[in-house]
Formats: sequence, structure tokens, C-alpha cells
Amino acid sequence: MSLLRDLKQTDAMSLGQQMHRFASDLYPICRSITGNGIRETLARIKSRIPLETFEVPTGKQVFDWTVPKEWNIRDAYIANSHGERVVDFRKCNLHVMSYSIPVHETMPLDKLKAHLFTLPDHPEWIPYRTSYYKEDWGFCLSHRQMQGLAPGDYEVRIDSTLEAGHLTYGECYLPGRSSDEVLISCHACHPSLANDNLSGLTVATFLAEHLSGRDLRYSYRFVFIPGTIGAITWLAQNRDTAGRIRHGIVLTCLGDLGGFHYKKSRQGDAEVDRASSHILRHSGEPAEILEFSPYGYDERQYCSPGFNLPVGCLMRSVWGSFPEYHTSADNLDFIQPLSLAGSLKACAGIVDVLEENRSYRNESPYCEPQLGKRDLYRSTGGEAGGEEIMARLWVLNLSDGKHSLLDIAERSGITFSTIRDAADLLHQKGLLSVIPVDDSKEASRSQGSRQASTQHS
Ligand code: ZN
Repeated sequence: MSLLRDLKQTDAMSLGQQMHRFASDLYPICRSITGNGIRETLARIKSRIPLETFEVPTGKQVFDWTVPKEWNIRDAYIANSHGERVVDFRKCNLHVMSYSIPVHETMPLDKLKAHLFTLPDHPEWIPYRTSYYKEDWGFCLSHRQMQGLAPGDYEVRIDSTLEAGHLTYGECYLPGRSSDEVLISCHACHPSLANDNLSGLTVATFLAEHLSGRDLRYSYRFVFIPGTIGAITWLAQNRDTAGRIRHGIVLTCLGDLGGFHYKKSRQGDAEVDRASSHILRHSGEPAEILEFSPYGYDERQYCSPGFNLPVGCLMRSVWGSFPEYHTSADNLDFIQPLSLAGSLKACAGIVDVLEENRSYRNESPYCEPQLGKRDLYRSTGGEAGGEEIMARLWVLNLSDGKHSLLDIAERSGITFSTIRDAADLLHQKGLLSVIPVDDSKEASRSQGSRQASTQHS
């Protein structure tokens, strides 16, 4: 299979527009780390891909953390003395600090101001604030809006609930020939924020949709979870089977106009790190590879030392590095159809490498086999020399059982897809034999139990 080849036959703009429309449908929903917003989001994802949802009760201990109370909100506003809503949750869900406790009182502006958050450097933007682990309430508004508030009394109303309930997450599992898994993880807990949150959800959903129904080497598990507490909860629920994860990527911030960034796993030289670096280097877009650091998204949890899973993070602009981050300016105009489609293609390229990376043995290793008599010394276009021929020579030379196709692609500087095509052809001509891979169900089970026993020791 080649997912990337198939996607390249799709018009990038129309694919990107479909993706942007999906993000637009999710945009108005008021998501948080628990509650009906994330449930509604998962229901929309389920309309496109098979998705199982899980509900974990408030109070459940998950490693060093506790599943929090469930938060839901119906309405919120600040009204002036004429009863006019001067800040209105119905206009923008960022106006209420996420996890705000219910409040209904009238107070003077001076007292209210202790609960107001603005961005003086970007006076038209509304900040995004949360208070998950400290019971508090607050409103976020543009600095301009706050400057327009006249002294006097204001009615403050937050019609929310914070009570025992559940933390909700979703999983899409696509079985492959092996029970070894590729984990694709994204956070689904931000309200109306497009790049940070919706772009990752969208790319993951479309990737699952395109992988669905294919003959896959690995099994794929897509998880849509609240950030941090969701990943911790998921890992606590799946502690004994996490060892099945052979490769993983956290997807986030994939819709802006920036070039790619791939943050390596804690292992640093995992196959997914090398596959991602290779694909991005040849993507035709600017790309930078970042070393692991224990800050960022949920790769922090997957790469905590007890798990140390090979999970990296794929982004365009890095969190916190763009001024729109965590503000109302991270909106649907900030994410672009072509960027979303390009990100999906990058993921497809990485998946192709993971699916097809294998090793061959040269069956004619004593000097070069005579390519001319096998019609292998011309490219498929007919011309002699060129990259296709070089790819065949590299594959023949390095297929000694010690080098995978990805090793050969890296060493030769030729794209993985060209190297793979060369290997396919040489295999058809009987010059290469496949070295069996170890990702059988048995291999994965023993790895799973090894991982579990390490964790318990
Ligand atoms: Zn965020």
C-alpha cells in the first residue's frame, strides 16, 4: 500500500477544504477536559470513523492524579446596570475561564476586575484561561472591551455545574495483521481554538478515515483525549497493554502556515523519529527536528520513564511560539485548507514508512548482478542512470540483512518511496529475498509482558 501515493492523487485544495469544514463544525463547541463538549466532539468524530467512547468516574485515582469533577456550562455573562450583556458567553465560549464555578451576584467593577483576564499587548484578542485544579471563576475579554467598562455595579452570572461525573475519551481501533500498534493521540479539550486542538483532531480523524479498510501491517489506535489528565487516565487504564505500542505520534497545531516541527520521542532514535525526520526532510516544506524535552503535549506522559514509549509530536508552529496561541485569534482563519492537507500527507508518508520498512537480503551479493540483462539498468522512463538506478544500486549494496529500507533511504539521501519501489522491483526480479519481520502477534505479546513486568518492578 502507499497511502501517500493515493492522497497525492486527491486534489489538495478540495481535501483541505473538507478538512477545514470538519474543523469548522467542531469549532463552536465549548470543550473542556470533561463534560458534554468533549462528548459532543467525540460524537461528531464518530460520524466519520468507528469510535468507542469511555467514561472514567470522578475520583478515580490515575497514577499520582485524580480524575476531576465534571464541568458543564449552559450560559454566562456580565451585564451592566441597564441589563445589557457586555460580556456574553453565547458570543464566544472563550469568555468564560474553563472550569469556572457557578456564580450569580452583583459587584462593583473594582471587585469584578480581580476576575477579568485580558491581553494588553493584543487589545482585540480574548485570552484562553483555565482553572482545572483550583476552584475559581473568571471571565476573559478583549482589553478594548475591558477599557470600555464604566465604573459601577455589574451583574455576574456563570450558569455552570462542577460535580461528580466522568472524564470522557474516545478510541478508534483499526486492526492490522499484527497486534503491535501505532498510537495516534490528540487532545480534544480546548474550546473554540482551531490550530491548538481542532487541527490535530481533524488530521487524526481524516488519517483514520483513509486508513480504514486497508490491509495494514500494524494495528492503529487513535485516541481523542483531554490533554494531560486524559493521557494520564488513558495510560492508567491501559498500563499493561501499552507495551504493544511500537510507534506513536501526538498530533497538534497542524493547520497554520508555519513549516513542520517534529519533536523526537524521549528515546530519540526510535523508528518513528527517523521515519518522521525522513518524511519531513523530503516533504518540500520547511521542517525542523526538535530534541525531546519534558514539556509540551501528551508525549510528556507517553515518554515518562515508566513507559518510555516511542512517541513523538508532529506540529507545524510550536505551541507558545505564535502570538495567536491560546487566544481568540487561533480561529478558523488561522488554519488553512492547504496546511491541513499537507499535514495529512506528512502523516501518510510517515505511516507508509512504518508500514513498509523492512529488510531484504541480496541473493547475488558477490559483485554487482548484471542489471542490463534484466532490463534494470534503465529507469521506468527509459533513460539510463538517474535516481531510480541509484536506488537499485543502493538497495542491492545495503541489503545484507543489517540494513532496513529506511536505513538505505537515510544513507543514500533518496526518498523512502523510491527506495521501496526499487526493492519491490528487485524482489520481483528475484535479486532480493524478504527477511521476515518480528512483528508477529507472538513477538508483540512477549514485548507487552516484558514492558508490564518492567513497570511493576
Ligand atoms: Zn493548548
